[in-house]
Amino acid sequence: MNCQNAQSMVLNFINNKLDKEETKEFIEHIRSCKDCWEELEIYYVMLIGLKQLDEGEELAADFKEKLQNEVDSRYLEIEKNSKRKYAAKIVIVLTIAVMLIWMFVYLVFAMFL
Ligand SMILES: [Zn+2]
Repeated sequence: MNCQNAQSMVLNFINNKLDKEETKEFIEHIRSCKDCWEELEIYYVMLIGLKQLDEGEELAADFKEKLQNEVDSRYLEIEKNSKRKYAAKIVIVLTIAVMLIWMFVYLVFAMFL
């Protein structure tokens, strides 16, 4: 992902409108790119600040920390999901392997007995 792509996704990221793959790529980019991180920070502070004003909430002073936590937890969530999918794939492959071995053994028995 380049900076232009990342910066066009900033608003969608904050509003949670990116899919998992996009979110992952976006986070990987902003973690390694100071310019885009700053861009995200500016929009985040603005949008969350407005939202809090709108809802009559007290303004949080630590926007930066909040953003950092948000980015980290979304990334973790995606990682967790992809690991779960990976585990499910292994189970399917193992099941198929066991069935093939069983069929092979059965055929060998059927041929020789
Ligand atoms: Zn960038």
